[in-house]
Amino acid sequence: MKIKNCMEDFVFQHLDGFLEQNQNICKCEQCKTDIAVLALNRLKPCYVTTEKGDLYTRLDLYETENEVDIFIALGKAIDIVEANPRHVKR
Ligand SMILES: [Zn+2]
Repeated sequence: MKIKNCMEDFVFQHLDGFLEQNQNICKCEQCKTDIAVLALNRLKPCYVTTEKGDLYTRLDLYETENEVDIFIALGKAIDIVEANPRHVKR
């Protein structure tokens, strides 16, 4: 049986939209990954088994339930990475 943290999917799904709204932030792979990791560490994991066919129906449910938290966590993560990118600012 496989398990998966569907919070990862949610965070990556919303990340691009957030970056589009934040023109100042660097959009390189390193910064994007840093933002995702910081956001994920602030969020409760949301584990599901990947066996069932109805996985995606349930993901929608979980996502709606956690949407506000995801937005807040992404906003904070973007602030942190924007202030301290792990590479020299371009
Ligand atoms: Zn960057």
